Amino acid sequence: MKSGASEAQVEVVARTIQELGFQSHVMPGSVRTAIGITGNQSPIDPSRFENLPGVAEVIRVSKPYKLITLDLRPEKTIVRVGDAAIGGDELAIIAGPCAIESRAQAFAIAEAVRRSGARFFRGGAYKPRTSPYAFQGLGEEGLRILADIREAYGLKIVTEALDEPGVDLVERYGDMIQIGARNMQNFSLLRRAGKAKLPVLLKRGLSATLDEWLLAAEYIMAEGNYQIVLCERGIRTFAQHTRNTLDLAAIPAVRRISHLPVIIDPSHGTGKNFMVTPLARAGVAVGADGLIIEVHDQPEHALSDGAQALTLDQYEQMVDEVRSIYEVIAPVSV
Ligand code: PEP
Ligand code: MN
Repeated sequence: MKSGASEAQVEVVARTIQELGFQSHVMPGSVRTAIGITGNQSPIDPSRFENLPGVAEVIRVSKPYKLITLDLRPEKTIVRVGDAAIGGDELAIIAGPCAIESRAQAFAIAEAVRRSGARFFRGGAYKPRTSPYAFQGLGEEGLRILADIREAYGLKIVTEALDEPGVDLVERYGDMIQIGARNMQNFSLLRRAGKAKLPVLLKRGLSATLDEWLLAAEYIMAEGNYQIVLCERGIRTFAQHTRNTLDLAAIPAVRRISHLPVIIDPSHGTGKNFMVTPLARAGVAVGADGLIIEVHDQPEHALSDGAQALTLDQYEQMVDEVRSIYEVIAPVSV
């Protein structure tokens, strides 16, 4: 739409799209509003829209994904989570344990996360474990602890939904729905998250190509939820010195295609405590919008992912370091 287009003009275009039997996606930007069209099986005649009042141009997006692209929305999306944001001009830090294990554990860690100035607290109540005999999370009790942490510290809660009923629960107790690597192509879960009122943190699958990952985000957007943050968390390669291979090149690769914010998970991306801080620094240096970090007050007793958890002291030090790097990198990264 033209920069001066009125809300009524946007409404007329959106209604026209719907009357043709397609879905309209209204995405306001700081200068212009873009309106995406999905649901068409073949090209649509641009003349149907070109002459409607307020329309600036009609662009055909000839890529497999439509709504996530810079073609549709040339300016970066800022995902807002209450009064916090990811993709704005502050480095977003999401930190906390892999799993919520007890009220005492979660509060001890949350206290340090709050002290560091981070705005987001992570912690799984439902854990996707490789073995059915491993700790599966505290379930709804874990979510209640997370909600109490939000209340006590004002931190925004990021927690994983393993399945569709899990999305209902995160909507009730949390602020942001995490979709894990193993679920990146769980299409019914993606569709449900697309109908959710909360923003989504979409992790890259263990063996997902860039296109598969972006198309997973497109699934969520196609249902009307445009608040998505992508997370590179490492992929499977032949390397044996790390749990996964953190694909730092994914950051500039995503940037070139999509307006969505993208963050780095150096915890799952390396699996090793001593590698987390170096790769966190690197992630910020390549232009990530934020970091998601596993922290534990007693990593040696952690019920999951203890080997990759930072201690509270290491975490604090890491935050200082990445903030200084971000100050240098933010003005030059695109
Ligand atoms: C997690 O964040 O604890 C997690 C299970 O991540 P991923 O889905 O990336 O393995
Ligand atoms: Mn974990």
